[in-house]
Amino acid sequence: MERRAIKKKAPYVEKTLEWLEKVSDRSVLYRDIDPFHQVFQFTEHVYSIFEECANGGSDLWINLIEGESAALLVDTGYGIGDLAKLVRHLIGDKKLYVVNTHEHYDHVLGNCRFDRVYCHPYALPFIKENYMSQDMFSPYMDENGNGIYLDFNKNDLPEFKGYELVPCNDGDRFELGEDHFVDVIYTPGHAAGGLSFLDRKNRILFTGAMHSGNTLIEGLQEQYREYNTVEAFADALEIIKEKELDSFDWIYAAHEIPVLEKGYLPEQLEVCKDLIRDHACNESITYDENGRECYCHMVGNAGLRYFRTSFRTK
Ligand SMILES: [Zn+2]
Repeated sequence: MERRAIKKKAPYVEKTLEWLEKVSDRSVLYRDIDPFHQVFQFTEHVYSIFEECANGGSDLWINLIEGESAALLVDTGYGIGDLAKLVRHLIGDKKLYVVNTHEHYDHVLGNCRFDRVYCHPYALPFIKENYMSQDMFSPYMDENGNGIYLDFNKNDLPEFKGYELVPCNDGDRFELGEDHFVDVIYTPGHAAGGLSFLDRKNRILFTGAMHSGNTLIEGLQEQYREYNTVEAFADALEIIKEKELDSFDWIYAAHEIPVLEKGYLPEQLEVCKDLIRDHACNESITYDENGRECYCHMVGNAGLRYFRTSFRTK
């Protein structure tokens, strides 16, 4: 697989890169349309679009669910390359809904390629305040407009244009065709404005930045901090486990190895419960994308990275 990374990525992505090589024969690069996104298919009617990380951290998976009459794009990435054109190439002129799994830059900077994007009400003010101008691309470029961590230049970026940011919340649903519904489930923890999307027809839960083997919970969000905690994550996982565990077979995560068996979710819940009982039950010290020390606790294949700040204060 072609790589564009210039600087070394976070150490924990090695396992994912190995896995990617094994499945690269299932992917297509539409170089003339968008050389920055490699399109994989792990199941029929779902395109898993791989985007290399622009800040040296974790690469991203953007998912496109194609229904009979409409499609749902889950996240928009860094904005590098022309994702909108690629999506149109894949789905033709079907109606397109665009959603953000949460408010972090690597999931939302590409929003301005589209006219309307749905996100959780807690994500909305953060995106509006931080990612609504051409400046949002600056941290990833040097003074000449070239990528610092990834081989791109300013001509690969969109000209920022305003777009409609629309709140959507737990219980909302998108209809992609007759009897094809995708339900919105509020899943805070990694971010206060976290959403998952349950595709009942394809039996897949799209979880954004959660359940990716290395979910990071900082607990440092200024607004709605109580929803950026291990406790908030545990509450959300508990509800999904109780109500919806029979509704899906697979979890599609936004980082690292993207296709996970659904047994991952109860393991992730056990990780949270262990940590709530004992905040110091970590096995190892590791690092976040900014090189800050954090702790890691695992149960089976599921892991959580966290700080001492990642919990609700009494
Ligand atoms: Zn995130």
